[in-house]
Amino acid sequence: MAFIITDPCITTKDSACVDVCPVDCIHPRKDEAEFADTPMLFIHPDECIDCGACVPACPVSAIYDSPDATPASQKDLIEANAKYRSGDAAAFAEATNIVNAHMSAHPELINIPAAERAAAHQA
Ligand code: SF4
Repeated sequence: MAFIITDPCITTKDSACVDVCPVDCIHPRKDEAEFADTPMLFIHPDECIDCGACVPACPVSAIYDSPDATPASQKDLIEANAKYRSGDAAAFAEATNIVNAHMSAHPELINIPAAERAAAHQA
């Protein structure tokens, strides 16, 4: 199991979660090359220790505590979190493609302010 970052992170990329994660499994960090171009941040599912520290740190409530807890409208982003790897251009492209497809499929979410998106996930 692992925590999952979802679409309120798109364009937000606040990075407060990165600062509190004890195992540095949230990427890209602001000091990594991919940060400028990534649409959102991702949690490495094999490295996450399920501590929960990132959840209250996120200002837009983008993080769910498991794939099972991730709402139906966000399930596609589970794969994006799993695909992304720092320094791996192909993995970055795959994860970005999933996020772009998600944005195209869910204009009803993307077109509302990021801070209000999580509340709309269950609608
Ligand atoms: Fe990092 Fe803990 Fe959040 Fe996993 S649950 S991404 S280990 S802060």
